[in-house]
Amino acid sequence: MAGLMTSPANSTKRIMTVFGTRPEAIKMFPVVHALRAQSGIEARVCVTAQHRDLLDQVLDIAQIVPDVDLDVMQPNQTLDALLARLVTGLGETFDREKPDRILVHGDTLTTMAGTIAAYFRKIPVGHVEAGLRSGDIYQPWPEEVNRRVTGVVADLHFAPTEAAADALMAENVDPARIHVTGNTVIDALLATQAQLQARPEIAAGLDDLATRFAGRRIVAVTSHRRENFGEGMRNIARAIAQIAARPDVAVIFPVHPNPNVRSVMDAELAGLSNVAMIDPLDYPHFVRLLDMCELVLTDSGGVQEEAPSLGKPVLVMRETTERPEGVAAGTARLVGTDPAQIVNEIFSLLDDKAAYSAMSRAHNPFGDGKAAQRIARVIADAG
Ligand code: UDP
Repeated sequence: MAGLMTSPANSTKRIMTVFGTRPEAIKMFPVVHALRAQSGIEARVCVTAQHRDLLDQVLDIAQIVPDVDLDVMQPNQTLDALLARLVTGLGETFDREKPDRILVHGDTLTTMAGTIAAYFRKIPVGHVEAGLRSGDIYQPWPEEVNRRVTGVVADLHFAPTEAAADALMAENVDPARIHVTGNTVIDALLATQAQLQARPEIAAGLDDLATRFAGRRIVAVTSHRRENFGEGMRNIARAIAQIAARPDVAVIFPVHPNPNVRSVMDAELAGLSNVAMIDPLDYPHFVRLLDMCELVLTDSGGVQEEAPSLGKPVLVMRETTERPEGVAAGTARLVGTDPAQIVNEIFSLLDDKAAYSAMSRAHNPFGDGKAAQRIARVIADAG
């Protein structure tokens, strides 16, 4: 009977992926591509542009043109004002776009705002990179609470690892709603490595530094955590200055545009000949930097996941990590922000071959590069 037949258009599910920062974009572009390739799904993309420039770098490289761009970023935005703009803008978007489901990632204010706006409209929420927990609501801040709120509302939880799935089950999430997929950052990393192999010119912007620092041992640095603003950032700068005083070392540091980072680094490190403070790199250039370097010093979350895959020891300038897999596997170590400890750890890796090789085993505790496909399939089945 005609009345009972469902037209293909009606059975197509409209899935709206929502993100706003650079790390979310890096980790969600493989998901957007996989959703587009999945039959039965109409993939829509809404960006909030919580970080404007850094987000656009990734969208360009990943060839994603968002269907909706809320462009919420304002100078010196407070968390309260940003959250209010996000919830309002996303709510209006959902009213207009009427998605059957939204997908959010990780732990940003965009993640929590998207979750809340969807919850108000009873739109189901899928959470990519679900189940990361530090156990401390102030580390990282405010991300630990952003992801916990999303964990309460989501009906599909894409956990990157078994440990993340365990954390969700400990919070009484129904195991049937948890899917261990691997982390999509490994999908992004492997795809970008393949691109770099085929077309090395896409990261030629680092040629000059590679020539300038030829023969030196390169330490790659990133730092942007809110918990480290102030004294922590000054300590990190002092540690970098001591490391770069060694004539055999060079530090390459793409400096985050946040004034809390940039002003400190400019004040403490400008003029040091072994330190290259450069603008944030687009993703292919950053992957090339990880490849060029001998070790990584960072307070980033995503970089902790990428470095083990490339066999690069990673020293994490935090007191705690919600990504214990790298530490457990021996490729990551927590060093906090005490300059003496950072310098000791780096010098011991540079000077002790056995210590270096123990930390530089390439392995992938965070995924196999197929996470996005798994996520798209689950969503197609679940609607
Ligand atoms: N990244 C990048 N360019 C840079 C520095 C980092 O593309 O100059 C990438 C990095 O590879 C990782 C992500 O940005 O995938 C991490 O972002 P960030 O450290 O800002 O955030 P977090 O992961 O701590 O949330």
